Amino acid sequence: MNCMAIESPDGVIVVDCGITFPREDRGVDIIHPVFDYLEDRADALLGIVITHGHEDHIGALPYLLERVPAPVYAPPYALALIKERMREFSSLPPIDLVATTPRKKFDLGHYTVEPLRVTHSIPDATALAIATPGGMVIHTGDFKLEDDPLDGEGYDIERFQELGDAGVSLLLSDSTNIDVPGRAGGEREVADNLRKLIAKKKQRVVVGIFPSNAFRLSTLVEIAAATGRRVCYLGRSVQTHARIAEHLNRLGARPDLLVPPERAREVPRGQLLVIASGTQAEPMSALGRLSRGEHPKLNLEAGDAVVFSSRTIPGNELSVWDLYCAFERRGMDVHYSGSDPGIHVSGHAGREEQSRMIAWTKPRSFIPVHGTFHHLNQHARLAKQLGVSDVLVIENGQTAVVDTEGVMPGSNVTVGRVHIDDGEEVPAEILRERAVMSEVGVILVSVGLDREGRLKGAVGLATRGVTVDPETDIAEAVRAVEGAVREVQGRGVGASALDGVRDAARRAARRFFAHGQRRPLVVVSTTVG
Ligand SMILES: [Zn+2]
Ligand SMILES: [Zn+2]
Repeated sequence: MNCMAIESPDGVIVVDCGITFPREDRGVDIIHPVFDYLEDRADALLGIVITHGHEDHIGALPYLLERVPAPVYAPPYALALIKERMREFSSLPPIDLVATTPRKKFDLGHYTVEPLRVTHSIPDATALAIATPGGMVIHTGDFKLEDDPLDGEGYDIERFQELGDAGVSLLLSDSTNIDVPGRAGGEREVADNLRKLIAKKKQRVVVGIFPSNAFRLSTLVEIAAATGRRVCYLGRSVQTHARIAEHLNRLGARPDLLVPPERAREVPRGQLLVIASGTQAEPMSALGRLSRGEHPKLNLEAGDAVVFSSRTIPGNELSVWDLYCAFERRGMDVHYSGSDPGIHVSGHAGREEQSRMIAWTKPRSFIPVHGTFHHLNQHARLAKQLGVSDVLVIENGQTAVVDTEGVMPGSNVTVGRVHIDDGEEVPAEILRERAVMSEVGVILVSVGLDREGRLKGAVGLATRGVTVDPETDIAEAVRAVEGAVREVQGRGVGASALDGVRDAARRAARRFFAHGQRRPLVVVSTTVG
């Protein structure tokens, strides 16, 4: 979740506003940052500047704008994606959306922001050169240095060097691939390798991609044309990105090649190229459904090929392997970057590119961004090796103070994660309950009391998801709960007396069904009369 505030007495600007995805499956779609810090400074917020259109940089914008409306400055491709996303939020106030252009400076209060072209796995990626009261700050955004990008929009080496010569106070740079030696590689090599692979195939070919990579989309449309195939976009996100890329003229438009999913079945097997989403094994994605033979529009057959032109995001390895195996079990040929190394490249700079960025900008101070603590640390080490003496590693919630001397750690601010399910926030307490229920189950206890608050009739007890012996455990648990209730009964039927009864019943049931340190969720209801 990239979301950074730059603050001075003149005001606050925010760089990027992204989401992340949950690791556990607890009914949460996305996670966005807690915005308390920015809400407290709503009046000082001058604008939100976006580096590029990836979800981890724009996905949380509507959630921030709902709370703190502010103008948004973004490159055209990101802006189109932001508009698309904002349409899902009916309660948003009117927001100024301003398209940025590389090298075209704009003022926000006393700050001057200059977007600079960088190359990345989405069109229109920018770094930001921000003139601040603390000096020139360069934020690379996500970048790599691709010498011959498919859209001809190369990285702005000249401007980075000029700024470096003029004096850069602080460089904030993308640490994602600090452990990758050398360079990331370019889309042209991927295009060649995919072309060779697909040309050899005699049956259907399904290619899984990250849909935001419009370069890859465009490459695949060209390959389809060259290999006599028609193109079918499968999955909502592929369709959305293809529509936006085409609208902005970033996709070699070949409407003649397109076949809608409804008609994909009619295309002879050797003449169909499917571009699909779901490379991270999301169960309801196009690839997920195809792997189970459950896609309503298309059924793959043995001999068809499934090509993963993608990487596995750390944490998804097991589900992605299950996905490969599901296809192979059904007789499909699976290709992925392990079997065919050239069919994907990263969008992030390797060590050599990171070193070049530091050498061009010659920053006085350096803060690594975009990576785990490990990546940040390694990147900080690289900067030191390259002669930057003032290096600071900070994590979420920590601030850094930049002045004429250098950077120093500042105070900590409130940060956190807001879990969203279908547009609504899921409170932390509910997530804890879901976690407990999934681990040890839930016990439902009902206690009847008479008007004096004495136990009346037998306690009712039912369990779900708890390992019990139905013959003996339930009866014993009922006796334990009844015993506990009798100790506190007879105190009347006021609110505090009923709380006492519920508390006693809950404790007794939790203790009875405890598994080591794990205790189930117990829900107690009381009836009086
Ligand atoms: Zn990115
Ligand atoms: Zn990113």
